[in-house]
Amino acid sequence: MSIIAANLQAVEATIGAACARAGRARSEVELLAVSKTFPAEAVVEAMAVGQRAFGENYLQEALDKMQEVARLQPDTAIAWHFIGPIQSNKTRPIAASFQWVHTVERLKIAQRLSEQRPPELGPLDICLQVNISGEASKSGAHEAELPELARQVAQLPNLRLRGLMAIPEASTNPEHQRAAFARLRTLFESLRAGGLPLDTLSMGMSGDLAAAVAEGATIVRIGSAIFGARHYE
Ligand SMILES: *Cc1c(COP(=O)(O)O)cnc(C)c1O
Repeated sequence: MSIIAANLQAVEATIGAACARAGRARSEVELLAVSKTFPAEAVVEAMAVGQRAFGENYLQEALDKMQEVARLQPDTAIAWHFIGPIQSNKTRPIAASFQWVHTVERLKIAQRLSEQRPPELGPLDICLQVNISGEASKSGAHEAELPELARQVAQLPNLRLRGLMAIPEASTNPEHQRAAFARLRTLFESLRAGGLPLDTLSMGMSGDLAAAVAEGATIVRIGSAIFGARHYE
């Protein structure tokens, strides 16, 4: 078995155990494999054991990788999720090449994605990124502006607002991890109570996966636990 296949099996076991502890069905949590910095061959190895959803942060790297994966595996459809910071001059290729975007934090970006989404692809699935760590993070919409942002994004014709995403301040303390994810879930529940039909909580990475599942994650974004440590140049 390849290292990636073995790692996927271990992550799967962690998700399964966390679901069991939380009384949740395994089918409620989708595993997004975060392949940033890893080559197309790594994606193909994960595909060989059934992985079909991949997350990428850097647009050019992602576009190159998508082409290469399509060349290596022309008959297998996979879903690409954009999970990196979005520059407003890069929205067009994002809207054309991804099925999901997890990192929308301003209306202007959402409007551009909606205008630039090729209609034949159907609506682009969107999560709003929320800053739940206050000063510790510059990314994400502030909690106070979230209800209005969500209401406006939900009205854009070529987007489907699915839910919320957050990257809490890193912590190795499971109680701190859970508290941050609980905050995101509370925000999610209050938007739902306000009438928005949201179904997605994108939260949890390699270091805090179990806490995220315990607090209701429906997508966990896992990179290093699957592909190994990242090396940036
Ligand atoms: C890199 C990244 C991940 C994966 O992180 P790991 O700790 O390697 O699992 C998840 N989400 C986002 C937004 C990322 O940038």
